[in-house]
Parts: sequence; structure tokens; C-alpha cells
Amino acid sequence: MANSLITTTGLILKEIDYKESDKLLTVLTKDLGVIFVRARGAKRTKNKASAATGLFAYSNLSLFRMGDKFTVDSADSIDLFFGLHSDIVKISLAAYICELCSVFSPELEPAEQQLRLALNTLHLLEKDKRSPLLLKSIFELRLTSISGFLPDLTSCTNCDEENPSLGFFSPSDGTLLCGDCASIRRKDDLPLSNAALTAMRHVIYSPDEKIYNFNLSGDSQTQFFNACEKNLLYYSEKTPVSLSFLKSIL
Ligand SMILES: [Zn+2]
Repeated sequence: MANSLITTTGLILKEIDYKESDKLLTVLTKDLGVIFVRARGAKRTKNKASAATGLFAYSNLSLFRMGDKFTVDSADSIDLFFGLHSDIVKISLAAYICELCSVFSPELEPAEQQLRLALNTLHLLEKDKRSPLLLKSIFELRLTSISGFLPDLTSCTNCDEENPSLGFFSPSDGTLLCGDCASIRRKDDLPLSNAALTAMRHVIYSPDEKIYNFNLSGDSQTQFFNACEKNLLYYSEKTPVSLSFLKSIL
């Protein structure tokens, strides 16, 4: 198979040392989704190009492609997200976001929406624009929604009530029950106030740049956090490694 040179932009989700001086990178790219890329000599050199292939770097990448194998030809950083490295909560949440991207994004297919979601969330996290817990939940719910697991929160699945003051969310099939239909809820259904439901609808149905623009507090906030995480865990094949550490420090 012929070696071809491609260019794309990508976020470095993971880096591991490989052989004496190379690194193996997991990269979320705009055009090819999640790919695995070898960066020759990246372990030894400390220059601009190696920074552009470091963890959490978002970069213009020029890659040699042989089938599904990729090697870095050149890399030029667009945003290194330096501020994420200064704080244990930010590093841990960024690592969780990156792990989820590698689980939920397609391989060798365009993943522009997932990439934009990750970059927007990392930016707000780095700049302290929203609380880490809120960003975590918004990211979880939006990522599953754009990756083929869109919940149906338009109305009660039993009676079609659209705006219940109290509802129940089923994380296993992504549906809503209103308070009047509570008698048929299942054991793992989660209580959801009207405010928490409104927040979930906002995250699912708003345009990309608007999904972070709301506020929640008290029980509604707790219910929102819980529903977003339980929904994600239902669809991820196993509990993300980075989640338990993140929860231990949040
Ligand atoms: Zn109902």
C-alpha cells in the first residue's frame, strides 16, 4: 500500500512512551476521528513540534498514512491548553474528557462535532468559565447525544405530558416519565425536577456554542449531575479509568 501524506487538525488524547525515543499517541482528529499515531523521537526532543504532540495539545498535523497506521511528519500547535496542567482537578477532568472522546468518537471517520465539543469544554475549563462539575455533566450528556445515544426528553413516554413539575429519567433507555406516571417507574429511574429536565433539554437540543449557558443549584443540580453520569455509564462499555480518580478529588 502506498504511503500518503495527509493534513488534519487534532487533539492529543493520550501519549505513551514507545521504544527508546518514540511516543504512541491517541489523537481525536477532525477528518479521521480517533487514530493512533507514532511520533518518532518525540520522547527525546523538547521543541515546538514535540509540544504540539503533547497531551491535551490541539495542533495542525501532517501525517504519513499507511493503511490505518499513521506517523507524524510535522506538527504545529494551535492551542496547547497550558492552563490545564496547573491544577489537579483540571488535569483530571481533562483526562476524563479525553478518555471519553476515545471511547465514543468513531475511528477513521470524521468526528468534527466530538472534537469541537471537547475543545470548547477544555477551553472553558482552562479559563475557569464554568464549574468543573457542570462542565463534566454537560460534556457527558452532549457527547452521548451526538454519538448516537440521543435521549428522548420531549414528553412523558407513558402519557405524553410535556412539562412535568417532577419527572423520572431512565438512564438505560433515555426516556422520561412524569410524576403522574411514577407508579410504573423502574428501580434505576432517577428523579428529575422541572429545572433539571430543562437543563438536560438545553444541553441536548441547543447549538454547540450555547450548551453551557444555564445555571442550576440545589437538588436540581444534583439530579442533573447524576442523570448525565448514569446515562453515560450505561452506554460506555466499562467505567472509564479516569472517572474514579476524578470523583475522589471533586
Ligand atoms: Zn406521564
